[in-house]
Amino acid sequence: MGIYDFYRRDVTEEAMAEMPTAGAAVTADTAPPVAAGGEKTRSSAPLPVSQDKPAALKLIREDIGDCTRCRLHKGRTKLVFGVGNVNAELMFIGEGPGADEDAQGEPFVGRAGQLLNNMISAMGLKREDVYIANVVKCRPPGNRTPEKDECDTCSPFLMRQIEVIRPKVIVALGAVAAKNLLAVNDSMANLRGRWYDFKDSKLLVTYHPAYLLRDPRQKKEAWKDLQMAMKYLGLEPPKKPSAE
Ligand code: SF4
Repeated sequence: MGIYDFYRRDVTEEAMAEMPTAGAAVTADTAPPVAAGGEKTRSSAPLPVSQDKPAALKLIREDIGDCTRCRLHKGRTKLVFGVGNVNAELMFIGEGPGADEDAQGEPFVGRAGQLLNNMISAMGLKREDVYIANVVKCRPPGNRTPEKDECDTCSPFLMRQIEVIRPKVIVALGAVAAKNLLAVNDSMANLRGRWYDFKDSKLLVTYHPAYLLRDPRQKKEAWKDLQMAMKYLGLEPPKKPSAE
């Protein structure tokens, strides 16, 4: 997969070319106000601090149960709750489960998941260091985009997960996640390349790994986004292995 080649050079098209050729709905009343300078902020009351994050997440999972709250339950094999480090400083949020995720009950385990793993490695982290979830927890039929009402129905669970994990940085993967989290309808070109305040976290938007699989030319842009997160989190790319 050329993971090392992904990061050992400066941000170049070649570096991105070495990568494998790879939200929770909010309603209008929660739309973030636009602050001075164009940065969008989400005002909210202080979040309750959970002392026992695994227990808090377990409670959310129990509340979801064998969910039939929206039509997506009909085609579901396994509900995909989310996975990762409950103390993660970095959280990735995608759109919804695909076929592999539906079969295994874990987000980002297919080809797009492999690319996401490589992106995480390029940031100097392991998949186990971050937390990964989706806007909707059941696979939309035929991998279609989840409908607004499906996102609206499922989103409170993701919001609770975010409030428990309280990551420093949230990376919204793709337009669907970004638009649902930020309650805006804008192009990826406008959504990317800036920070948003989201609850107690900073949020940025980048391309969904599945999109990068379809259009590898955009990997260099995605790498720029990830570098923003790395800078904020004080992360360094892993050192190049010694030739000795
Ligand atoms: S997508 Fe969410 S709200 Fe819809 S059935 Fe699945 S868990 Fe329930």
